[in-house]
Amino acid sequence: METGDHNMAARRRTNGNTESVDNYLKAILYLGGAEESRVTIKALAGRLSVAPASVTNMLQKLAGSPAPLVEYERHRGVRLSSAGKRRALEVVRHHRLIETFLYQVLDYPIEELHEEAERLEHFISERFEQRIAAKLGNPRIDPHGHSIPTMEGEMPEGERPARESILLADVVGDGTFVIDSISDRDAHSLRSIEACGITPGARLRVRKSASSEGYSVRTGRSSKVFDLSREVARDVRVVRLPK
Ligand SMILES: [Zn+2]
Repeated sequence: METGDHNMAARRRTNGNTESVDNYLKAILYLGGAEESRVTIKALAGRLSVAPASVTNMLQKLAGSPAPLVEYERHRGVRLSSAGKRRALEVVRHHRLIETFLYQVLDYPIEELHEEAERLEHFISERFEQRIAAKLGNPRIDPHGHSIPTMEGEMPEGERPARESILLADVVGDGTFVIDSISDRDAHSLRSIEACGITPGARLRVRKSASSEGYSVRTGRSSKVFDLSREVARDVRVVRLPK
């Protein structure tokens, strides 16, 4: 993806710390602010665990720079400019490529990928990004089942999480599902999810747990039944298969 070192340097000068700017852009992207809709300061503050006043401050700075990464208006919220969207998707591409590399090549445990990628995603060079992608055979999906944006800064077709996917925690009644993707944000959850054999692309048979608020699940062809808490079920996205 094309973002010259030149731009990076300019951004660092005008907007302060690249790392925190990137995290703002990613959070806005995640909350849907790359589309027509705008993201509220409250939602953004929640996602970033930062005080709303600091968020407002940062957005004013970002929106006021010569090539703004965001469009921000008081009371209307914020969305990404096209330059902001490009950068956000580039950072997401870095993140997901790094996670895939750590997992497949360096044998990192699944629950350690995210934290390492959060650190490295801001700093890898274009060359390094291309080398990783080539080494991995230009993967489209990361180990958590999330689509890796293309070199051109677009989400590939059949983007995952799929639009028709739902949270396992929102499943009502029994059914058979395909596992779409798993949130990468909670290491503890990731460990228990992997221990149940839940991986993207696998089949999942689900019924409401009789004993608790959670779910009883079986994956693939295994006959072993696992119990998942509601909380862990919030980190798993699934797509229902027709009966
Ligand atoms: Zn991650």
